[in-house]
Amino acid sequence: MHSPLLTRAEATQYAETSRHAEVIAFAEALCAESPLVRLVEMGESAEGQRMIALVLSATGAFTPEAVHAGKQIVVMIEANIHAGEVEGKEASLALCRDLVTSTKGRRLLQDVAIVVVPDVNPDGNDRISPLNRALSIATLEGQENPPGGVGTRYTGEGWNMNRDAIKQEAVETRNLARLYQAWSPQMFIDCHTTDGSLTGHDLTFDTSHNNQALLAPVLGATRKMLEKLANKIADEQGFVSGWYGNFVVEDDPDQGWMTYPALPRFGSHYRGLLGRMDVLLETYSYIPFQRRCAVIYAWLHGLVRYAGRHRKALKAAVAHQAAVIQSALSGGDPRMRVGIQYGEPRRDADGALRFEYPAYALDGDTVEVPSFDRQSLQARRYPGDETQTYTVPHRRSFVPVLSVRPPVAYILDVNLAARLAAHGLQMETLDAPLEGLVETDTVLSIEKTHSPDVAGLVPGPGGGELPLSAKPPPRRFETVLTVSSASAPTTLPAGTHLARVDQPGGLLLVYLLEPCADDGFARWELFDAHLFVGSPFPIRRLRSPLPAGRFRAE
Ligand SMILES: [Zn+2]
Repeated sequence: MHSPLLTRAEATQYAETSRHAEVIAFAEALCAESPLVRLVEMGESAEGQRMIALVLSATGAFTPEAVHAGKQIVVMIEANIHAGEVEGKEASLALCRDLVTSTKGRRLLQDVAIVVVPDVNPDGNDRISPLNRALSIATLEGQENPPGGVGTRYTGEGWNMNRDAIKQEAVETRNLARLYQAWSPQMFIDCHTTDGSLTGHDLTFDTSHNNQALLAPVLGATRKMLEKLANKIADEQGFVSGWYGNFVVEDDPDQGWMTYPALPRFGSHYRGLLGRMDVLLETYSYIPFQRRCAVIYAWLHGLVRYAGRHRKALKAAVAHQAAVIQSALSGGDPRMRVGIQYGEPRRDADGALRFEYPAYALDGDTVEVPSFDRQSLQARRYPGDETQTYTVPHRRSFVPVLSVRPPVAYILDVNLAARLAAHGLQMETLDAPLEGLVETDTVLSIEKTHSPDVAGLVPGPGGGELPLSAKPPPRRFETVLTVSSASAPTTLPAGTHLARVDQPGGLLLVYLLEPCADDGFARWELFDAHLFVGSPFPIRRLRSPLPAGRFRAE
């Protein structure tokens, strides 16, 4: 009998985390041991490391087509996107091993196909240093590190992958997007570690918040699942879990508990726009590393079991959500609007344009936050002298500042074939001229704003990452436009490129192509070379119906 397969964390009594080569070695050893797990190549990282996923299934189906043709629900787990936040990497590997080597696990894999990306940021992962994410309760940041240290928040090239879902500047983001589109999972789980407000949590969780009214079916199913599971995990294993957020005012919990902006540059909100269930898991960075690994393991296992037990209802909720989006984008309801801008503009003392993304507690929405007495909070003591639970406004609702009526299709006057394909979106070309009502935007103003925490400096050998409290200089900027719109009867020549809105992913398409979207292609400077005040924006809207059979797909 051979010795059981251990992760680096397990083998070192939680003194160290796995190097990327160890992740691959563990995955390959598991595949050699069990016919219920297969390795999938995802491409290479920027520095040429192999990126891999594991597919777990007990029905013999290991491809997206075979799995979706059967009864299984697909759950995708991604870990280590911020490679200083390593518990998901360790726990997801351990979970794969435990599922394929236990009777209960094998039974579960009849109902659930699991796709696991244990280390989506290999280059950041291998920049391991105890100086990364160093603990500082005074500034409410960092974590209890394993003594051997952890990797970096950014990729080897310095990209923050969890701000990259729209612009896809990191090759690792593009590799993950391809895998996500191929598998089209009903549920996606993204693993992190959070610092911030002083609380009694072991883990916080959240889900997508963009266009909440339109996405209510999946949002409702996800919220219900997360709250039920939090109670179950607390009862059975004693871990304290709650909704993700921070106190709006650190020393004054009564001001409320607020989640993070609903921008789809964050993977969670991006996948929400695709109508899928999305789960953000954040272990709490001030508890010990071993406990963080244990709590995220409990959640990953719990979510997979929940998905198996409720697979019919969850698959139905996702299918219903797709129908709701399709109907909303089909043009039947003139009241239909898509929220594309949630930021409120502010001017700095020096006049620079900035945005705030307020979250509101609507309809008396409250949340219970386990924390400590106020004196401990004021003194920044963790753990505090006495535990205290605060019932406070739950600021997790987002109200669009700007909404648009979706067109029938967007007319693309710039070449976006590769960009749209990278998001899994279709483009078509007119075979013959088309008469139609076309809406054109005229650019009224162009201004820049900077993006915090989108790109960071990569530490040199032996160095540690700069904490965000050190206010590293901005390295990435955004273009902010104002436009005026008018429609006119227009003849579109043969060869014109169009992207229909009533395609799968149509809601994302609207967000990507609208000139004033807070997270679209224009915002990420893709069209800068085409933008002049007083000139037309290079994407127009077709407002009249499209006749059948006038296109070829690209
Ligand atoms: Zn993170």
